[in-house]
Amino acid sequence: MKVYKFGGASVRSAEGVRNLCDIVRGETGDLFVIVSAMGKTTNALEHVLEQFMAGDREATQQAFAVSETYHREIIAALFDNVPEDASSTHRPFVAPCSLPAVEELFGELKNLLDSCEPKPEEYELWYDRIVSYGELLSTTIISEYLNHCGLLNRWIDMRQCFITDARHRDADIDIERSAPLLKNIVYGECPGQSEIRTRIFIGQGFIGGTPEGEPTTLGREGSDYSAAVAAHILDAESLTIWKDVEGILNADPKIFPDTVYIPELTYLDAIELAYSGAQIIHPKTIKPLQNKHIPLYVRPFGDKTRPGSVIKGEIDHPIDVPILILKHNQVLLSIRPNDFSFVLEDRFAGIFSLLERYNVKINLIQSSAVNLSLCVDRSRHLEEVVNELHRQQYRVVYNSDMELLTIRGYTSELCDKYDRFPGAYLTQKTRKIVRIVRKKV
Ligand code: ASP
Ligand code: MG
Repeated sequence: MKVYKFGGASVRSAEGVRNLCDIVRGETGDLFVIVSAMGKTTNALEHVLEQFMAGDREATQQAFAVSETYHREIIAALFDNVPEDASSTHRPFVAPCSLPAVEELFGELKNLLDSCEPKPEEYELWYDRIVSYGELLSTTIISEYLNHCGLLNRWIDMRQCFITDARHRDADIDIERSAPLLKNIVYGECPGQSEIRTRIFIGQGFIGGTPEGEPTTLGREGSDYSAAVAAHILDAESLTIWKDVEGILNADPKIFPDTVYIPELTYLDAIELAYSGAQIIHPKTIKPLQNKHIPLYVRPFGDKTRPGSVIKGEIDHPIDVPILILKHNQVLLSIRPNDFSFVLEDRFAGIFSLLERYNVKINLIQSSAVNLSLCVDRSRHLEEVVNELHRQQYRVVYNSDMELLTIRGYTSELCDKYDRFPGAYLTQKTRKIVRIVRKKV
């Protein structure tokens, strides 16, 4: 079994879906395919949610219509244009824009939006109910299209296979509970399909469900994590993430000059990169793979002859270039007890558990005698955290619009260049890594 994951950018158009179909056709063994929402659908559905939560029916419908039209256009382009080499097993032509399974999803979502009155405190719950439709739609369209092209496959509802906790918008998959469910679907008997064993499975990234059956999402860009957990549970020989880049680079070419491509990384390299904010893979992706020694390939979607990068336990060529990672949307908090008592362990524990409770992610910690500085992800709950700290007699200084630059394997030139930067507020250095919290450039 191999696991493939396709991100939103790779399936943003009919052409992208055809390319996916080509890549899937090239694999002759068992294949589990995880797909994200098409293009910028998750953002678009977040926008639908905002209007819905604000109680603006008309704006909600308009926002929904934008997404609906986008998907319908892709469907029309796909099903109007049957590839010449489609095998004889392909189904009779289905009228464009009306795949019944897709219509059902549109209907369900429309119904939710039209008939429910959300409570403001249920924002996270509604987020997951609504935004999860992005992946349900993309996988349904892709599964239908693959069938249509003779690549018989089975669509899997990951809300029923990945059992998660109820931390909406940032749920964790309970691997132990999910494993028998997923294995049973993939390796068990399937009623009605017994003569032909399905070897291709299509499942949604980014989503799961609570034991009570409420949909959950796993955090933005969480499809990589879904794919890694699927690979772990199915004991896959490898996971391949198909992306719109050559492989893993030492820096984001849109931000830094002179980037180079890195052919091999260890799991440890990768987890550090992801944690520092490299957008290449979701931070939760590595652990499930490392635990079962499953290699992760990051390959260019546009050219399947190119090898891309591999992440695995042992590598032949350690990385010998500095790696630069910029994490956006940061806030620097400086916290000090009003009574000047030293910030000690018991105080730390209270502050950290408060941040944990509000799901605020900490990216850098620095402490002195009476001061604790924390660089955290911007979050809609930050104000509540700061208010609570005030109640607990802390003085809090708050710098928003910050970013966190991490340079791994820095050189003195690089260090000087970025550390002297006038907006640099805080620098932390170890032998290998320098991290700079700076005002957004
Ligand atoms: N569709 C989700 C997002 O855009 C998950 C993913 O793409 O990995 O964040
Ligand atoms: Mg994505």
